[in-house]
Amino acid sequence: MFRERFHESLESIRMSPIVTISEEVRRRAVDFEKSGNVMIRFQRGEIDLRTPEFIVDAAKKALDLGLTKYPSSGGEASLKQAIIGKLERDFGVTGVAPADVVVTYGGQQGLVLAFKLFSRGAGFSPVWSTVLENYAPYAQIDFEQVPLNEDFSIDYDKVEAAVRGRDFFYLNNPQNPTGKVFTREELETVVDICTRNNCFVISDEAYEKFVFDGLKHVSLTEFDQENVLSVFTFSKTFSMTGWRVGYVVTRRNEKLAKLLRLGGYTQTAGVTSFVQYAAARALDDVEASERAIKDMKAEFDRRRHALYNGLKDLPGVQVAKPQGAFYMFPNFGEVIPKGLQGEVRKKYIYELLIENGIACVYGACFGNYFTDHVRLSYSATPVEEIEEAAARFKRIFPTRAAA
Ligand code: PMP
Repeated sequence: MFRERFHESLESIRMSPIVTISEEVRRRAVDFEKSGNVMIRFQRGEIDLRTPEFIVDAAKKALDLGLTKYPSSGGEASLKQAIIGKLERDFGVTGVAPADVVVTYGGQQGLVLAFKLFSRGAGFSPVWSTVLENYAPYAQIDFEQVPLNEDFSIDYDKVEAAVRGRDFFYLNNPQNPTGKVFTREELETVVDICTRNNCFVISDEAYEKFVFDGLKHVSLTEFDQENVLSVFTFSKTFSMTGWRVGYVVTRRNEKLAKLLRLGGYTQTAGVTSFVQYAAARALDDVEASERAIKDMKAEFDRRRHALYNGLKDLPGVQVAKPQGAFYMFPNFGEVIPKGLQGEVRKKYIYELLIENGIACVYGACFGNYFTDHVRLSYSATPVEEIEEAAARFKRIFPTRAAA
């Protein structure tokens, strides 16, 4: 062969096991569904609802207006203004300048660019798998996983020890895969530890709008610190995963914003012009957007209750009721036969569930810890299916496993 090995930044990327799982689920669903029952899917993190009509209409209008030329690098002025307005409305944040905002291809490009600023990072485990499989290797980051406690609370000593000598801490709130919403106090403490250790915080706020039980999202843009960058996306809030639009907000740090802008320009020259126009409408039409988000949230809240009710009384299964995002991360440790180790243990619950027509993602996809857990995403599973899954859970886990 002419050449076998190429640059480490691409060679070291691994295909997410979640993609492999999705392919496997598709295959196994065909067999399972021959029995006349549906495979109930909890493995995907993608919303099954449509993008609200007023945003779709705005994109059509933008095309009619001829917004098909190169965009301004870093983002169109109108979208940046819309973002600045949103930050003030939602978080009471003032003083953000257009130059502090960089429009990106989804949260994903914002995170890739943010990781590329640095070489050594840390973040909680469990962690969204793409961080481990893609961003860290692509940006050649040495990434240390800091385990959350069993109840998903924070061990601050571990954070302190991890960030010493590191460039950044990745903090995702609300969190994928646990659905945990960190409190203001927890966030303040982590940011404070980072600041004392000359460490940046990459704040991933993709699920900002999905917080339940009357809670309000706390954005790290509120902290107004030069060592914090906040990454947002339209993907979840407006069910716009295929549009690929998001943004990064920096505070008081011209250098950071400039590097992100240059990086974005180098990769793509800028985000699709007519998509930016529609994204600006999504934020500026406050009434339509609040209505759309309210409906979506109400639907997720129904699903959250249905899934939690289906899990909470299962013998030997521990589940915390998540207050955010659209994931649940129960612990099945007590029902996995003792003595099982390695790959078999990692996939034991995943296999058991899929054999019974329930597709999930096993915990090892989210890092080195919490490998007896599985992630269940209710982003695309209607309540009736969740209730059917609950009935299946009861049949699968009738009593605490003895072994
Ligand atoms: N952060 C987290 C934690 C996510 O789960 C996702 C999507 N699954 C994203 C960011 C980015 O999504 P997108 O690139 O579609 O904006």
